Amino acid sequence: MEEKNGLLIVVSGPSGAGKGTVLAHTIANYSKLRYSISVTTRQPRGGEKDGVEYYFKSIEEFEKMIENNAFLEYQRVYDNYYGTPIDKVKEQLAQGYDVVLEIDVKGALEVKNRYREAVMIFISPAKRETIAERLRKRSTESEEQLIIRTNSAIEEIKQAVFYDYIVVNEDAHQGAMDIISIIEAEKCKIKNNKKFIDNLIYGGNQL
Ligand code: 5GP
Repeated sequence: MEEKNGLLIVVSGPSGAGKGTVLAHTIANYSKLRYSISVTTRQPRGGEKDGVEYYFKSIEEFEKMIENNAFLEYQRVYDNYYGTPIDKVKEQLAQGYDVVLEIDVKGALEVKNRYREAVMIFISPAKRETIAERLRKRSTESEEQLIIRTNSAIEEIKQAVFYDYIVVNEDAHQGAMDIISIIEAEKCKIKNNKKFIDNLIYGGNQL
């Protein structure tokens, strides 16, 4: 996949880190950012709508999409499939939008392997205790699910070393401002401005 203008930003973090809220604030404050809506086979949680949080599909439909190479990456997370549809991501990057994927660590590393320029951001809670507290408040899971998710959250935090940045979510608005600062700094990197510099040196003839 070839990037034209936009940045591909990958955000992960354990359940209970508050990724969703931080990203909602980020998108509200940064109009060039587009959220990639994943496809999943899990059941919608209360209030979730098809085509908003996720595209909800059957296992058969999901497996058909795998066969058709429709995913940039996909994973089995807990008992369900989750995947990033590739077409929309490519289209929006080509239109110059920055695209954010909110995906699990395994999927994120797969994206980084395929697409070295991806900017990897890990969102973390400030304290270990916050994970279980936040999950309990959401209370959509059974007690058993809660224990599984809390343990796997701790495992996921070990993977933060593979990311470029960590954003500590003590306050969702501040977390969003941190993500926007990261995006803006990435855009100023020399490696992302080679064409611009060449044009300054050689004039508009050099592309
Ligand atoms: P949830 O069921 O709480 O919405 O999501 C469970 C986990 O799946 C989260 O860690 C979330 O980031 C991850 N996830 C959501 N969409 C995708 C996706 O398209 N690909 C991958 N690999 N993980 C995803």
